[in-house]
Amino acid sequence: MKVIKRIPEIRLHIKNLRKMGKNIGFVPTMGFLHNGHLSLVKQSCKENDVTGVSIYVNPTQFGPNEDLDRYPRDFSRDEALLDELGVDFIFYPGNKDIYPDGYCTYVDVEGMGEVLCGSSRLNHFRGVTTVVLKLFNILTPDNAYFGRKDAQQAIILKKMVTDLNLDVNVNTIPIVRDTDGLALSSRNVYLSPEQREAALFLPRALQNAKEKIHAGLTGASTIRTFIVDEIKKSPHIEIDYVEVVSLDKLEKYPGPDSTININNTLIAAAVKVGKTRLIDNFTLGEI
Ligand code: AMP
Repeated sequence: MKVIKRIPEIRLHIKNLRKMGKNIGFVPTMGFLHNGHLSLVKQSCKENDVTGVSIYVNPTQFGPNEDLDRYPRDFSRDEALLDELGVDFIFYPGNKDIYPDGYCTYVDVEGMGEVLCGSSRLNHFRGVTTVVLKLFNILTPDNAYFGRKDAQQAIILKKMVTDLNLDVNVNTIPIVRDTDGLALSSRNVYLSPEQREAALFLPRALQNAKEKIHAGLTGASTIRTFIVDEIKKSPHIEIDYVEVVSLDKLEKYPGPDSTININNTLIAAAVKVGKTRLIDNFTLGEI
């Protein structure tokens, strides 16, 4: 497995892979890998001749008061995990490679980036779409893999790919959870044992809502209120948002308690436990 840091070198490597007729799968990550990341990598390895993974903690998707500086990192552990899975290369650039002095070009998927996580994380999705577009341009993958844990991100990236006619297939992979139900996240290491107990109210609330929907609950506002009340059973969780929106456009249901579309709905929530922000969701319909 090659570890490549500079853009001219990675371009050369990709050119050589192309000459050999290889198709390329790509998994963008911010590192500190867990089984959620690895499920994307395994899927890519299954579906492509070669798989590349990027490890880059992208500063433009972090707000001024967020955890950019303390975001967990462990490159040698990540490297060993990816090597074991048969990954062909890691692209591991520095900030100067991605955002050289004077950098000023950004891509924005209008509207979809300002709701849900975007309403409390100003410019977050602009940072995500910008870095992913740059990575797509540098690596020219045939297939790219994203987790449904970050459902809004996957939906926005799919829209960017369609709107900008990018020649890459965006594949999404189901949420991978720990045995206690918490969605795996690099940020889970911030949680103390007590905070982790509190955090479990998030997946439980969503699971209970899913069961209610299967039992016939259909009103968007009723579902939202049910989830809010379930999460609030823990005094140690602060709700950022709970939303019931359309899966394709991320639009709220109009009216007092509209019936949800069982083929096109995203039910998503973000909470804070202490300083740690956690997200989770489930969908009715495919991303
Ligand atoms: P990150 O390193 O947090 O930027 O995540 C890189 C990719 O892994 C993104 O496409 C995430 O959606 C995906 N991912 C992170 N956690 C999970 C999880 N628990 N299950 C599935 N995919 C995940």
